[in-house]
This record gives sequence, structure tokens and C-alpha cells, in this order.
Amino acid sequence: MTPQATAQTLADFPFDAPGRDLESLKHAIANKLMFTVGKDPKTARPEDWMHAAAYAVRDQLVERWMKTTRAQYAQDAKRVYYMSMEFLIGRTFGNAMLALGLRERVRQALADFGVDLDAITELEPDAALGNGGLGRLAACFLDSMATLNIPGFGYGIRYDYGMFRQTIVDGRQVEVPDYWLTQGNPWEFARPEVTYRVRFGGRVVKDGDQYNWVDSNDVQAMAYDTIIPGYDTMATNTLRLWSAKATQEIDLGAFNRGNYFAAVETKNHSENVSRVLYPDDSTDSGRELRLHQEYFFCSASVQDLLRRYMSRHKGFEDLPNKVSIHLNDTHPVLAIPELMRLLLDEQHLPWADAWRLCQGVFSYTNHTLMHEALETWPVGMLERILPRHLQIIYDINAQFLTGLAQAGVAAEMLRKVSLVDEHGDRRVRMAYLAVLTSHSINGVSALHSELMKESIFSDFARLWPERFNNKTNGITPRRWLAQANPALSALLDKKIGTGWRRDLSQLKELQPLVTNEKVIAGFQAAKLVNKQRLAAWVKKNMGLEIPTDALFDVQVKRIHEYKRQLLNVLHVITRYQRILANPDAPVVPRVVVFAGKAASAYHMAKNIIRLINDVAKVINNDARIGNKLKVVFIPNYSVSLAEMIIPAADLSEQISTAGTEASGTGNMKLSLNGALTIGTLDGANVEILQNVGADNIFIFGMTTPEVATLRATGYRPASIVEKNPELAATLNAIRSGLFSPEEPERYQSIYDALVTWGDHYLLLGDYAAYIAAQEKVDAAYLDPQAWAIMALRNVAAMGPFSADRTIAEYAEKIWNSPALEIEA
Ligand SMILES: *Cc1c(COP(=O)(O)O)cnc(C)c1O
Repeated sequence: MTPQATAQTLADFPFDAPGRDLESLKHAIANKLMFTVGKDPKTARPEDWMHAAAYAVRDQLVERWMKTTRAQYAQDAKRVYYMSMEFLIGRTFGNAMLALGLRERVRQALADFGVDLDAITELEPDAALGNGGLGRLAACFLDSMATLNIPGFGYGIRYDYGMFRQTIVDGRQVEVPDYWLTQGNPWEFARPEVTYRVRFGGRVVKDGDQYNWVDSNDVQAMAYDTIIPGYDTMATNTLRLWSAKATQEIDLGAFNRGNYFAAVETKNHSENVSRVLYPDDSTDSGRELRLHQEYFFCSASVQDLLRRYMSRHKGFEDLPNKVSIHLNDTHPVLAIPELMRLLLDEQHLPWADAWRLCQGVFSYTNHTLMHEALETWPVGMLERILPRHLQIIYDINAQFLTGLAQAGVAAEMLRKVSLVDEHGDRRVRMAYLAVLTSHSINGVSALHSELMKESIFSDFARLWPERFNNKTNGITPRRWLAQANPALSALLDKKIGTGWRRDLSQLKELQPLVTNEKVIAGFQAAKLVNKQRLAAWVKKNMGLEIPTDALFDVQVKRIHEYKRQLLNVLHVITRYQRILANPDAPVVPRVVVFAGKAASAYHMAKNIIRLINDVAKVINNDARIGNKLKVVFIPNYSVSLAEMIIPAADLSEQISTAGTEASGTGNMKLSLNGALTIGTLDGANVEILQNVGADNIFIFGMTTPEVATLRATGYRPASIVEKNPELAATLNAIRSGLFSPEEPERYQSIYDALVTWGDHYLLLGDYAAYIAAQEKVDAAYLDPQAWAIMALRNVAAMGPFSADRTIAEYAEKIWNSPALEIEA
């Protein structure tokens, strides 16, 4: 009898199913502390209790996890492989307790040991394996796939160092490595038996019809599995992250703080391939290590999913019925030539069959239209690192272009759509390879999906219009409302029931109640609690007092010129100068909150952080201002900080230049938590406007066509400044050193970027409209009742922005992947 044969069903297997009652939980935690963590309760540190409690909660998920896997095999379910370079997960403990409905009972169990649940929850490090929106979307999607019983697998990289920790030293961002695994990670299972050889370099030798890849440098990819609980369902999915084996720790003691990345990224040794997350957001870093990382996880993942398929199926005809591979942006596009290579060179399929299978399997999401963010790889680099893949890409391209030429397409057009950009050093366009292969290409908001068809993919959209579609992003209501905002959640539970966690469209039942006085008072009380929570954190961690009766004006997201934090700063300075000019005029007190990281090599973004901190220092210490205006830059923006900041917001700043933000998801989180948006007609702001109605949002500024026209007809920022004395005074304050008296010319370059060097993101073009919109915000805030009603209308309208809605659309329209049935 093989070991596997001992348990036909889990019910036949003599394990102790962990009980859910209080006594069982207490015993479980006590046992974990002693036998797994190995600590005497007398000397156990809070971290030890956190681990003990996490293991006890994890046990609750394991049986579900195994049942889910068994059901997947038994039903021969179609599996969805969501491939992403980034998963910005945050903490797992609270989320797991929420999914299991065990939070209060765990709290009680720990309280009996004298341990405070909230205190130990804070000790879990964030799993920050992502930069920003793209990585967080992947994490929300995993949550929704599990909750909807979709057999979804995440594939990614287990970076030793996640997103850097941002510290602020003398107003400046200083990056500190995030070695998040120091204390161990109770949520992952190491799978040393699941390893794949990943090859780099070498050369290709042709032997008859057979291509042999020889003399390569190899690295082992080893699997680590993280449990992804579904909310209130048996379904429990897997995130499989790959780690490069046979690595050695680098010397972090010696690294140079001013040059974070070069210090952490040791030479391009392949064993360093899973060492560190690239801290760039939406810029093509063009680094060789990045190419190694991308191929590393693509190769391991495709080998893994193909092995799983082959273990249960004969032949490959059924592959597109059993496997979907979704490409989260172009970072995993090497999975395409890798699957081709495995089918051609190792499984010996004819080219046409392999290609047809790839087209059936792959789908792709585009996340940006910005030219500098579109990935291309130099042909020479690919030839050196992935010689066989370059051949396959050339063959795909030749077939494609030959087909077009035979259909009479002109040479000019062939050059435009070729996978190889022949300008300068020849480069492979990864987005084109994704589009050429995928049966579905989607954008992430209605506006972005239209622009995608008109701009970067216009030629392809004419060739294959049926492949292009929109799937507006969403967020998981579990983390972003139930977990982040207990106060508002309790109000919703009382007024509309608890079902919104699984079906966010139920929020519309709040609609008729938004003018109810008790509901309004309940909302205001919840908002105040959340502001007090944030104010207490700011006091404790930054030593700054902020008034909780002020309007909390919040902009939290990566620091990037296109997101225009600098426009927000212009408003802050204008406001400051107005207060000084008119000390007796009544003002709506504001706390302006910023948070966000800048890519470590992005000088302008780092300079903007410094300006925000300098402005904060001057304003917060100006006795003439008092509580009328406070400015806070909260360091080290992360998922966990987002969960605390967002529920406290009254106003959500979504002010990117129209046409630049693909969707945004921060906008959705803030609206869901009862903040009003001040925003441009960009990304998903457009759909938020449609859902909440024009009376419940502050829309301002140029539209995408207006931006295009202005740029085409000649944009002259200096002439805008000449005509607007208040803007001139604001800019002068920056240039003259009002906020940097010890170094007056510190911000000359920011002034120049706006006034002299063309103001690429048109801040000055939108300044007047933005200031006018801020005046409307002030006027509206003067009526607290009316404001609360508008905020409640935002909450009530956010049903469509659940990631469950998004994932249901992907599952039905792109993946054709029905939900799994799992016995209780
Ligand atoms: C949601 C989220 C983002 C994305 O925010 P945008 O405003 O859409 O750019 C980035 N970082 C974290 C930690 C998030 O939670």
C-alpha cells in the first residue's frame, strides 16, 4: 500500500479536526506555543504569542485547503493561474480570522492568557511583495477568487526583501531593506520537494528537427505555498511563490543608504534572482537582473502547471479547457515563449499545435499607457540570456508578419506591429507579444480600455477588435471595509445586515437610509473614531497633534509626477498664504495627509517628498496658523497603514492628469469608507462619478481630449503663471526658499520643472480649477449633515467596485472557469 492510499477521504484519516469553540482554541494556542514555537508561557514574548495564535488559526484552514485541492482534482476543474511579479498582501492573521469568523473568539482565548489580540496583530510584518496598485490588485484578486470558489492559483516570486521600508530623515526619504522573514512566516509551507531547474545563458544546438539548449547556467526554483482563505467558504486557494535555492546572504551592514538598490542588488548572479523586489513603479528599469527574475518565475510556474496538467491528462488537446494563464501586465510575458519551448522542444508538438494551445490559454491585462513603462528587452540581452526564447519569438513574429504581408498589408504597417522594434538597438516589445498571443486583452477601467485601443494597441485593435475588452478593477470589501473599518462595518451590519461582505451590491440598501438622522449620526461617530485612531497613531509615532474636528484631506499612493502630489502641495501653500493674508476670515480647518514611497532612483519624486516635509514643518510650526492647517507626511505607506489612514479620510485626492491613471484602486477604497473624491476625469474616477452622481463628488480639470489638444496646440505654463498672481505667489514661495530657509535654492528645480521645462503633467493648467474645486469642498464641509449624506451616498454606491464583481467577469468572460463545488 502506498502512503497515499491510506486515506480515500479525509474523514478516514485519523487526524484531530481543530475545534472552533473557545476551549479548543485556547488549547490549540497553548499547544502551539509549547510544541511549535517552543516557548514557556512564562517567558513567551508577544511575538511568540502572535506566532502561536497564527498557527492555531492556520490549522483551521488546512483541512479546507486539502478539501479544496481534492475537489479540484475530483472535478477536473479548470484552473486559473494568475501570474504576477507582485503580490502586495499585507498582513494575513486578521484576514484569516475574518474569513473564518473567529476574530472575537480568538480575542477571548488570548485574553484568558492575558494577551491582547490587537497588540499582537500589530507585530505581524506586512508581506510587501509589491510596489503599489498592481501588486495590491493581485492580492485583492486572490481574495476574491477564493471567496467565489474559483480554482485560482497565484504564481509569483518569494522575494527575501520586499518593498523597502521608507524612513524620513531630515525630511528626506531614506530606504531601509525590508527583510520580512526574520521572525519566520507562519502562513507559508516550504515545499523543498517541488523544485524546477531554470536555465539561463548557453546556446542552442540544432540536431535535425530538435533544438537543444546547452551550456546553460542553472538555478533551482523552490516552491513556497501560502494559504489564501476564501471568506465564509470552504474554498481555500494557493499562492505559490518561487525562491532561488543555494543563495547566500549579502552583507547589508555595509550597504550605502544613499544608493539602496545598487547595494541590495548584488551582481547578476543567478542565485540572487529572488533576492529583492524591484522598487520601481511603472518605469522600465531595463536591468538584466529584472529579466532574470521574470524568466525565473515564468519558467518555474509554467513547468509546474504543465506537470500538474500532464499528471491527469493524456495529450494536450484539453489544455485550454483545463488551464488559463493570466498575465498581470507584461512582466510574466516570457511565460509565452516558455510554454512554446516546452511544448515544442520537450513535448515535441508541431508548431501550429503549440501556437494554437498558447492562444487558447493566455490572457493579458494592460496596466499602463505610459511609454516609459512599456517593457522592451534588447535583442542582444535576450540572445545572451534566453537564446532559445529569442528564436521562438522571432519565429512567432515571422509567422505573424508573413501572414499580414500575404494579406496585402504594407511594409510600413509591418514595421509598426512587428514584435521587434528596429529603431536604435533592436528591442523586443513584450506588450505586443502579449497581444499577439492572448485571446483576451483587457484594460482596467472604461476610459483606460478605450484609450488602450486608440493609442498603444490601435493597429492590433483594428486587426482583432474582438480580443479587446474592459474589466474595471475592484477591491476586496473584506480587507478594505470589514477589517479596516470596524466602526462603519458595525453601522452597516445594524442597518442593512451583514451580507455586504460577500455581496457588496447590498450596499445600495443604504440608499434610502442616507438621510435618516440616526444613520447620519452613526456615520459621523464612526468617522470620528477612525480619525481619533489615526490621530493617536500620528501623536505616538510622529509626536504631532492633529485636530480631529478638522477635514481630513488624504492623498496616499506611490509618489509620482503623474499622480500630481505637487498639485496638492500647491493648494496647501495657497491655502497657507490665504490664511496669513486674512487671519480673521473663517476657514474650514484641514489636516492634509500624504503618504507614499518614491522609487529609490526617482529623484524628482524624492524631492517632492522632501518638499512636502519641509512645507509641513513650516506650516505646523507657524503659530499664526494653529489648527487651521496641519500637514502630515506619514512614513512608510503600506497596506497596513492604508487600512488605518483610509477610514479616517473625509476627502480623497485623485488628481492625476487626465489620461494617465489606468484605473486607481485607492480611489475605490476611500469612497467605500465614506470619503468624498476630489478628482479629475481619469481612470475609474469616471465610473465612480457615474455611480455616486455629480452632486456627491468634486470633479475638476481638463479631460483627456482637452489634455491632448492643449499639448498639441502648445502649452505655455509661464503664461498661465503671468495671469494668475496667486499661483505666482505660491510658486515664488517654493522658489524663494520659504520652506527651506537654510538652503533657499533647494526647490529651484521643482519650480523650473513646472514653469520653465514644460510642466509635463500640466499641473499649472489645472491649478485654477483645482483651487476652485477645493473652495467647493470647504463650502460643503460647513454643513456637516449634508456632507455626511454625500459621504453615505458614496458608500451606498460602491457595490460595483468589489473585486468580486471584477473576478466574476474575468471568470465568465475571459477564463471560462466555473466555480468549484466543495463539500462542507
Ligand atoms: C490601494 C493601494 C495602492 C494603490 O493606490 P492608488 O491610489 O490606486 O495608486 C498603493 N499602495 C497600497 C499600499 C495600497 O493599498
